[in-house]
Amino acid sequence: MNSRRGFLQMITGSVFSFSLISREALASVKETNYEGPVLRVAIMGLGSYASRVAEAMQSCKKAKLVGVISGTPSKIKDWQTKYFIPEKNCYHYGNFDEIKNNPDIDAVYVITPNALHHDQVIRVAAAGKHVICEKPMALNAKEGQEMIDACEKAKVRLLVGYRMHFEAKTLEVIRMRNEGEFGKIRFFQGLCGFRIGDPGQWRLNKKLSGGGSMMDIGIYAVNGARYMVGEEPVWVTAQETKTDSAKFKEGVDETIQFQMGFPGGAVASCLSTYAMNNLDRFFLDGDSGFAEMQPSTNYGPIKGRTHKGELSQPHITHQTVQMEEMASILFEGRQPILPVDGKEALKDLKIIDAVYLAAKTGTKVSLDLR
Ligand code: NAD
Repeated sequence: MNSRRGFLQMITGSVFSFSLISREALASVKETNYEGPVLRVAIMGLGSYASRVAEAMQSCKKAKLVGVISGTPSKIKDWQTKYFIPEKNCYHYGNFDEIKNNPDIDAVYVITPNALHHDQVIRVAAAGKHVICEKPMALNAKEGQEMIDACEKAKVRLLVGYRMHFEAKTLEVIRMRNEGEFGKIRFFQGLCGFRIGDPGQWRLNKKLSGGGSMMDIGIYAVNGARYMVGEEPVWVTAQETKTDSAKFKEGVDETIQFQMGFPGGAVASCLSTYAMNNLDRFFLDGDSGFAEMQPSTNYGPIKGRTHKGELSQPHITHQTVQMEEMASILFEGRQPILPVDGKEALKDLKIIDAVYLAAKTGTKVSLDLR
């Protein structure tokens, strides 16, 4: 942890004095007048989502990109130039355990293919750094539990990139539900999907993805059902359909429809697919009101309305808000309205395990997420 003043001293001091820092960057830092702690983050895996997170972090005052971990030297060079990252904060997959000796990095944000999260998070924890991990946290609940245990043992925090947990319109719906404005909740519908392109990508390789659409996009319906209904499901049923078994090989789900039952009697009907476009919709129905959001989980602006009218909360880049809030969670002990820790992610993994089991066996699978 350091302060913004410390950061200013750093960037104007020896490391950057050979002019890597631009006038504009310096001005934007000064403008914030922020004097509190700054979460110094290294990003692992410099792919497309990492690029989005890095751009968004430029507008953060409480979080700052200070390091990178990548297997591609040319990407490291590009990121160093773009984000003023000193050589001493650059690592590759072979040596990033050495980050434990780097006092200038507080947390590592793991943004690599799903199958790599488990080992990488455990290595970061062993290096004594907080970990932020992208969704899905792991390939299954067993792996997820091992990651939680490793972080607890190392006394570091494990947070998961649930950006929707900080999104203003989503939080307004949750406030309304908590205050009883929808009455008794009866039903949730979550439709999540898109037509996936390149058949050679890691998302369609079970070894790297852990599955198919459920791991990638269906998880938004799982997680969304939980935060919209406000309860944990107690059973799951599921049905899988496949139209292209060459593209979606064994263990890579193309489309899964699944249903969940909640202790209060509400039911959820969800669709996860890599085969249909325009599916990004949540609908929540209660005895005295409803909420519908479309788009419900893309990068926004999220749009939605309830029985009371349009939701009008302003759009702020999700990843900017997420990183600001995560800095507050780690350094100020802030409790988010919706949790973003490893235990939260483990619940989603348990449900996904149950969805796959239900689809395979055709049975109703019971869940105990307490
Ligand atoms: P991507 O393919 O664009 O990037 C993955 C990065 O990992 C690449 O830079 C690649 O070089 C690197 N990598 C390291 N080891 C690799 C290996 N063995 N095989 C393949 N690539 C390897 O993927 P992405 O879209 O950035 O997704 C990364 C993670 O972020 C995934 O877990 C994904 O689910 C998650 N994600 C989250 C969101 C969100 O909104 N929260 C959005 C997109 C992706």
